[in-house]
Amino acid sequence: PAERLNGLGTTIFAEMSALALATGSVNLGQGFPDRDGPDSVLEDAIAAIRSGANQYAPARGVPVLRQAVADHQRRFYGLSYDPDTQVLITTGATEAVAAALLAYVEPGDEVIALEPYYDSYAAGIAFAGGRRVPVTLRAPSYRLELDELRAAVTPRTKVLLINSPHNPTGTVLTDDELRGVRDVAVEHDLIVITDEVYEHLVYDGLRHRPLATYEGMADRTVSISSAGKTFAVTGWKIGWVTGSAAVVTAVTTAKQFLTFTSGTPFQPAVANALALGNDYFDTLRADLQSRRDLLAGGLTDLGFEVHRPAGTYFITTDIRPLGHTDGIDFCRMLPERAGVVAIPHQVFYDHTTLGRPLVRWAFCKQPALLQEALTRLQKL
Ligand code: PMP
Ligand code: GLN
Repeated sequence: PAERLNGLGTTIFAEMSALALATGSVNLGQGFPDRDGPDSVLEDAIAAIRSGANQYAPARGVPVLRQAVADHQRRFYGLSYDPDTQVLITTGATEAVAAALLAYVEPGDEVIALEPYYDSYAAGIAFAGGRRVPVTLRAPSYRLELDELRAAVTPRTKVLLINSPHNPTGTVLTDDELRGVRDVAVEHDLIVITDEVYEHLVYDGLRHRPLATYEGMADRTVSISSAGKTFAVTGWKIGWVTGSAAVVTAVTTAKQFLTFTSGTPFQPAVANALALGNDYFDTLRADLQSRRDLLAGGLTDLGFEVHRPAGTYFITTDIRPLGHTDGIDFCRMLPERAGVVAIPHQVFYDHTTLGRPLVRWAFCKQPALLQEALTRLQKL
């Protein structure tokens, strides 16, 4: 195999989900809900298949979904996009990130990514021939240190790859941090790829604010989101890019030779989902917040140091108060010992020692299952 595969191996999510199946463990590893999204959304996809939406979609996505994405950006953020030229439908956010990196990164270019970083970023940067430059969000607060961001910029820097709400830490970047990202991008004329798949999973009354809303960002931002988390359909793999016409054309050029188009019958269903009333989004947030609180409270009672997330599906804990030091060893032992699966942070770091004592737990599960996991963890 080619050198670009070096160090990629099998994703931690595949490894840990297989382990969960093999051991009958409660899977709080890979982030996917254990209840499928709203019935009406599922029925819309079935109806689309029955009505014959089963052949290739247009390259940029079916028009109703591009319109729905544009409407969603206006409704929640006041952002205006032309659905014909400024919206692209992709095969999940994963493809959008990969296509954006392929569109903008020349071999040898540096891409600054927030560490710990979602694992597909490392692969996407490597495939594009780029060099990953991490800027670390440090436990327990995981704030973005703007001095460190500024210091990471070199003449080879091409892209800032930002993710907020942030997987795996659950951090939601503050207005000051986002403004700082903007200032660096504008000063050094950088492209910003911003992965906002957890945009609707923000708690405690906070609100997600897209980077594209900041002055000076409209023409340099590749905004990415997807349906998986917001509508609890992670297997549908429908994502989208919004940006200037030039940005969307560049990403489309790469995307058309990766997958050409994306799952046709899911697209009208996601279009209807994006138009659901505010009560859907409010209930989603409230439900997940109460699950976060249930799991965070239980893990605290068990003795973990819990780093309470402001967003996403994930809670991070430090395992050292329980006498463990290495998250990978801990997560490999956990299914056998307690019948629970979690994800070690370490695999998301270049500075592996910083991630060593940290373990991520997904709370996008029914409360009874979270309770069952907590009961099992008493065996630790
Ligand atoms: N970005 C982040 C930060 C994620 O956590 C995930 C996976 N949950 C993705 C992208 C992938 O999204 P999709 O399934 O839409 O490809
Ligand atoms: N994004 C999900 C997570 O972070 C997993 C997606 C995947 O398996 N690649 O858990």
